[in-house]
Amino acid sequence: MDTSAFMSTPEPKHRHRQPREKSTRLRGIARLWDGARVHRDVSVVLRGGRVVEIETGDDTDGGEDDCENVDCDGLIAMPGLVDCHTHTTFAGTRVADFVKRLGGTSYTTILEGGGGIHTTVQATRMATTDELAFLTGARLEEMLAHGVTTVEVKSGYGLDLRTERRMLEAARAASGPVEVMPTFLAHVLPRGRDRDEYMRELLDVNLPQLAGLACAADVYCDDGAFTLAETEAILRRASGLGLALHVHAEQVAWTGAAALAARLGALSADHLERIDADGIDAMAAAGTVAVLLPGAMLYLRDTPPPVKALRAACVPMAIATDFNPGSSPVNNLWTAATLACLTMGLTVEEALAGITRNAARALGRPDLGWLGAGSAADIALFPAPVGEPPSVEVLVQHLGGTRAEQVWKAGERVL
Ligand SMILES: [Zn+2]
Repeated sequence: MDTSAFMSTPEPKHRHRQPREKSTRLRGIARLWDGARVHRDVSVVLRGGRVVEIETGDDTDGGEDDCENVDCDGLIAMPGLVDCHTHTTFAGTRVADFVKRLGGTSYTTILEGGGGIHTTVQATRMATTDELAFLTGARLEEMLAHGVTTVEVKSGYGLDLRTERRMLEAARAASGPVEVMPTFLAHVLPRGRDRDEYMRELLDVNLPQLAGLACAADVYCDDGAFTLAETEAILRRASGLGLALHVHAEQVAWTGAAALAARLGALSADHLERIDADGIDAMAAAGTVAVLLPGAMLYLRDTPPPVKALRAACVPMAIATDFNPGSSPVNNLWTAATLACLTMGLTVEEALAGITRNAARALGRPDLGWLGAGSAADIALFPAPVGEPPSVEVLVQHLGGTRAEQVWKAGERVL
């Protein structure tokens, strides 16, 4: 007797399954920012991880096609937000520094006493890769709750090959519903290391060994960190290894780093409180994105970058949290957007572009930061604050925005 008919047949393997072709329609969206302008009363159709189209009121009530309809009544839709400059992978706390600084102790005194960044380096070196990945993942979840779907995460608290590698591995391991773009950061010189010897190690050992784990490289070019010549050497080496480039530029002192970033084809120059006219002209000519970091500016009680001059020169401006345990313990990108308006003079439209379209540009990701046929299906949907009519502007007006009600990443619902 043939018993095969009675034997359970194995489940078909997923690899044989056709790619998901089913469409999803997000219906009843009250307002939608597409990266450049606001739409009213629309639906968004998604398929295969991409947006197929944005439908206006007249053509949304079909419902007879094979779309799965999802109710988004009254919600405000944004492209999934992009946080293009963060230091999310770290261990330890800097709360003691915060208390001391409010008590009148200077940052230099704290640093000389082994505090500041040295506290974070020590704690990060002691943490396991699993611990770092767990902390990073938990922080990314908080960002997701505010509609962020892509985050750039820098290394730079290890300062030695082993810990820098573990930081980048942890950042990659934490990538999930929130996509992580890891960056190798040459942050500062480790305490007690010979300058020339460390530079040689960075160029000949660390960068080549870590390039495969990162999308980009970044250098902190400033007083107390790397010189302009050192920055150029590191960036050229990184570029040769196929990495995109960013620069922490003109924050504490003017160094010429913004013009260097432009000259080397960096995607962005970040901070820019002390950029000069030549730096602005160079960035404008090269199309380098200016990444503004109002959290750090506020915590350091610094003066704003020259936004009027950047605007007049048509330098694209992005806004990021600079999330880190010391100078910007801010992980809500909406907070950064509002602070950019209040402390730096951005308009609401500039703030919206700053956390979407221009932030994506700062990461070299033209598929992100906008919504329309062919864009990534990364979409965050927010309720208006209690009692407010739905508008995109109100999310910037209310410090911290609102918590997202739905978030979609590459066409899949992740919140
Ligand atoms: Zn930074």
